[in-house]
Amino acid sequence: MSDNPFLSPSTLVYELPPFAEIREEHYRPAFDRGMADQLAETAAVAANPEPPTFDNTVVALERSGALLRRVSTVFFNQDSSDTTPGVRALDAEISPLLAAHADAIHLDAALFARLDALHRTRHELGLDAESLRLLERRHTAFVRAGARLDAAGQQRLREINAELAADAAAFRRNTHEASLAGAIEVESADALDGLSAAAVAAAAENARALGRGGRWVLSLKNFSQQSELASLTDRDLRRRLLTSSLRRGLDTNGPLAAKMAALRAERAALLGHPTHASYVVADETAGTVGAVGAMLGRLVAPAVANAEREAADLAAAAAADGIDELGAHDWAFYAEKVRAERYDVDTAALRPYFELERVLRDGVFFAANLAYGLTFAERPDLTAHHPDARVFEVFDADGSALGLFIGDFHARESKRGGAWMNELVSQSRLLGTRPVVVNNLNIAHPAPGEAALLSWDEVRTLFHEFGHALHGLFSDVQYPSFAGTEVPRDFVEFPSQVNETWMTRPEVLANYARHHVTGEPLDAAVVGRMLAAENYGQGFRTVEYLAAALLDWAWHTRRPGDPVVEDAEAFEAQALAEAGVAVAAVPPRYRTGYFNHVFSNGYSAGYYAYIWSEVLDAETAQWFGSNGLGVRESGQVFRDRLLSRGGSRDALECVRDVLGRGPEIGPLLARRGLE
Ligand SMILES: [Zn+2]
Repeated sequence: MSDNPFLSPSTLVYELPPFAEIREEHYRPAFDRGMADQLAETAAVAANPEPPTFDNTVVALERSGALLRRVSTVFFNQDSSDTTPGVRALDAEISPLLAAHADAIHLDAALFARLDALHRTRHELGLDAESLRLLERRHTAFVRAGARLDAAGQQRLREINAELAADAAAFRRNTHEASLAGAIEVESADALDGLSAAAVAAAAENARALGRGGRWVLSLKNFSQQSELASLTDRDLRRRLLTSSLRRGLDTNGPLAAKMAALRAERAALLGHPTHASYVVADETAGTVGAVGAMLGRLVAPAVANAEREAADLAAAAAADGIDELGAHDWAFYAEKVRAERYDVDTAALRPYFELERVLRDGVFFAANLAYGLTFAERPDLTAHHPDARVFEVFDADGSALGLFIGDFHARESKRGGAWMNELVSQSRLLGTRPVVVNNLNIAHPAPGEAALLSWDEVRTLFHEFGHALHGLFSDVQYPSFAGTEVPRDFVEFPSQVNETWMTRPEVLANYARHHVTGEPLDAAVVGRMLAAENYGQGFRTVEYLAAALLDWAWHTRRPGDPVVEDAEAFEAQALAEAGVAVAAVPPRYRTGYFNHVFSNGYSAGYYAYIWSEVLDAETAQWFGSNGLGVRESGQVFRDRLLSRGGSRDALECVRDVLGRGPEIGPLLARRGLE
């Protein structure tokens, strides 16, 4: 144990975890010791004979759990980014223990009595605004975690939390296994007609990695639509691929989801809420179930009308190929055709203009320099969590060091699908820490010696995730609980979505969209057509998203005592029909069987957050262009008043501080063609 690298703070720059020394067997003892240490620390706070003060109670809690924080951040980053059978097994083992650990702290009556006493006198303590907010947020967290329940209620709560934590880990594992099992194998490259040479090579490489050399394997990405559907000419293969994607996890995760929804409803009732959704949104910027329902409800009818208009166009194109009924598996294929005809844009042909290295340095980093004055220096001397992951040091406009950015851009079998940001070290003036943030993406590895060429969507993802990274890097708060992305769930996608808007700003696009061999810029006329085509397909995208959000909503507005759902598929069909988003050719972006966001990753009753945040982002995009300030000055205002504040100030107050008024929905409706 004494050689366990988690035991003491890292001595590397920015307290970067010492990845070169970390081995799998270090995790479990560090978790055990970390939980024991934190319990001892919090027990000492509870047993302090001195009367409670902000420092000896709230700040002491804030300092507690340093070892547990160190091991958790590294472990969960590895579990998502470079998992192994051992790590997955430990995830299943440790998740219920971590839930029980959190309960042990939140349900400690002596500890809560101290917090409660401070909370009652909070306005007489002479606290600065951030400290007052910390006291209030801590108190709310304890109450929401059951601190006011009687002994029997607390006992049941502990049982439910442990069970849900185990279920969530099982759900993750099932999704991973079902996605692997759902891969489609073909015996001849001819069947892959329509795919680019690179995609065919990737399919051959997949097959080799699975010991199926000489064949071709299309592996499933984590959402419903699969990128190959846009170009595969074999209709039957398209059907097989999409069916496999949509059906994955249904038999294992369907019943599990039903059980989790019932447990969550029971827990909500215990905590004084009619539904789990009510419990969740009470602590979000949305506030009430009614506010979310009204927002989603307002978008459904115009979005469905748009999707139906698009479907009619696509059906006409498909009819020319002798297809009399457009299926969900035909949508992407004909959308690509219609887009090419109508806008003369061949998105696949644009890839050579979006080379990863150029998009990163001349696009993402360049935009961060324009707006915020940041500069970047790669640090090959520093070791990250995987050989693919690259470490960059980030410098502020005045040249001072800000933090580390780790970019882990490529897909691998050991990485879960999608893209996300993690923090390995959170900024805090109290703890004297500066940020170390990670972006994980799933861009296909190029063949040796080849350049990694991105799709337009992958360019968007790179900008999006970097927006989360900036939120972490700009954090300038006292307390770690408020660092960077520690904001309400329905606010956290806002900064990342704002950062997406840079990708199409003319001066940014012109800087990165250059042919990777000739260096030739992308033709301005092509850019114009591409931007015009950007809005094409909004009906599909909005309905696909709303269907997933409303599915999440249907699961989590169930009431305690409602019979447990026996057939997840029938439940889905009914939920979508009732919400008015059952468009046959537009399946939800996620179906229950692989909806990790809401059954294992903390977005339960929260998938609405993306479009909720988009109201703010559409407003902010407009603000950047119309506030009378230059880009750099606007960036500074946005950083000072919002990005740097993390959770230390009410989220909507930060927005009002930037915009000078509350947000309105108009710009979002315009952007999505929903007026
Ligand atoms: Zn995001």
